[in-house]
Amino acid sequence: MQKDNKNIDKQLDKIRHSLSHLMTMAIVEIYPKAGLGVGPVIENGFYQDYDLGKTDKFPITTENLIKIENRMRELIAQNIKFEQHDMTFAKALALYKKDKYKTELIKELKKKGDLPRSKAGKKVSFYKSGDFDNLCAGPHIKNTSEINPQAFKLTKVAGAYWRGNEKNKMLTRIYGIAFNTKEELDNYVKMQEEAEKRDHRMLGEKLKIFTFSEMVGPGLPLWLPNGTVIIEQLENLAKEMEKKGGYSQVKTPHIAKEIMYKTSGHLPYYADSMFPPMVMQEEGGKKEIYYLKAMNCPHHHQIFKAEQRSYKNLPLRLAEYGTCYRYEKSGELFGLMRVRSMQMNDAHIYCTEEQFAKEFLAVVKLYLEYFKIFGIEKYIMRLSTHSKEGLGKKYINNEKLWKKTEAMVRDIMTKENIPFVEVPNEAAFYGPKIDVQVWSAIGREFTLATNQVDFAVPERFGLTFIDSDGKEKTPICIHRAPLGTHERTIGFLIEHFAGAFPLWLSPVQISIIPISEKHLEYANIIKQKLLENNIRLEIRDEAETLGKKIRTAEMQKIPYLIIVGDKEIQANAVSVRARGKGDLGQMPIQSFIDKINNEIKNKL
Ligand SMILES: [Zn+2]
Ligand SMILES: [Zn+2]
Repeated sequence: MQKDNKNIDKQLDKIRHSLSHLMTMAIVEIYPKAGLGVGPVIENGFYQDYDLGKTDKFPITTENLIKIENRMRELIAQNIKFEQHDMTFAKALALYKKDKYKTELIKELKKKGDLPRSKAGKKVSFYKSGDFDNLCAGPHIKNTSEINPQAFKLTKVAGAYWRGNEKNKMLTRIYGIAFNTKEELDNYVKMQEEAEKRDHRMLGEKLKIFTFSEMVGPGLPLWLPNGTVIIEQLENLAKEMEKKGGYSQVKTPHIAKEIMYKTSGHLPYYADSMFPPMVMQEEGGKKEIYYLKAMNCPHHHQIFKAEQRSYKNLPLRLAEYGTCYRYEKSGELFGLMRVRSMQMNDAHIYCTEEQFAKEFLAVVKLYLEYFKIFGIEKYIMRLSTHSKEGLGKKYINNEKLWKKTEAMVRDIMTKENIPFVEVPNEAAFYGPKIDVQVWSAIGREFTLATNQVDFAVPERFGLTFIDSDGKEKTPICIHRAPLGTHERTIGFLIEHFAGAFPLWLSPVQISIIPISEKHLEYANIIKQKLLENNIRLEIRDEAETLGKKIRTAEMQKIPYLIIVGDKEIQANAVSVRARGKGDLGQMPIQSFIDKINNEIKNKL
């Protein structure tokens, strides 16, 4: 199965790349003098950069893309062959006499001579399709008959600097997407449209979950009351699960002295990702340097160290929703997904080597439990391992320990039938790690959680315990954050649920809507009863029509609306409307309370 998919993907990549050549054929018919920048295959499609010169004759707008697309379909129908051939540098340079971009590329290749198929560095590889000959390493399809003309689409036009350097000229980049079938193309387009509607930045503002302020600074989200409720509910869930798992909650400050980050190894290696130091003049003239914390681990290590530990105290599991600060370039900030302050669902588990397998597995199982609660059906765990070449540079220089820990992790995952892929040479500095990728309800991929083995840092901090044989030993540390950060997780959940959070997580769970002012008193009696049950609610007592009040509450994606009027008062009942389900009819107040208490308790 796996292998077949890979072959299909390879063929699809060839199709995507061949489409970019066909797009260029269509473009040069309109703009014969177009300069040609790069045109690689990307996820789901391709792009190509052009220097078109003056474009007033046929402006490359999104509307005009369809015309280029149709011309490409005509070319596909001609069963054009793609044929590879080599060309000498002299000939290639002559061919691209008027194209300074290709000329630059070829001159560079001549210097390095590293393009595939350039025999003895004297020739460069070309692909010819019809009359169009293009500097290209391939691979390509053999014939345009391999392309499904209904399964591709040109999607957008953007500006892109030549070689990504803003000092260079801005070129025109045209993007396309391509799949094997029209159905796959349509599904992808639909998913993109749906993703736009679910964009967490747009919904986050509409549902009053978070905001940003110029004065606070970029990448530093402010959580509004609705967002704070979601945070609290997530923290309650985490604490509940961690209590069952034998964790202890701790709290640590947001800053620490430079010496701690030097000991952990974050300084100087990680300095670029940290906020700049705060230099403090202590009384007596002593200078101290402090940093905002970029991770919680070193703080937790100090808690481990605060007492003499024995094997009887292990495993010690320290958990904290700790706020960390990391410097991300302003161009890389993105809503809640890339931020500068983040609240991590962090914990560090200190254990003996014998305890490791059991502890690691418990963490993995915790992940799976969370996925079930959030209805995450598709996920994959990526086990990142070391590389021999990186030992002593990227990785702690202890090959034996790497191999041993990696084997332990691999064994656990295999034995427990947990789906995972292995990615060599992507481990953390101090040990192998597992990143968890999840897919949202509409099939978009996110990296949420992480689970890392650390067999090096505890030693740097001099963490020890007295083992049963009376000897002092260093514990292994597991860093885990199944719910990642509040920022990223809530950003994901907004998209996953399209803002329609399950009842237990909804900022406002019930909206009570009195039909008119005279029903307000009864509405307040119900409010009191719901409040006694810890239910989060609002009363829509504004002077609006019933229809308008219902629409407003529905726009806010509130899970239940209860409507009260004369009939309800008479029957000592409420009329209930459920989000997405419509009218549930009338029911006694207590039955309604029992129903929602049950849903909240079971996180339905
Ligand atoms: Zn090519
Ligand atoms: Zn950590």
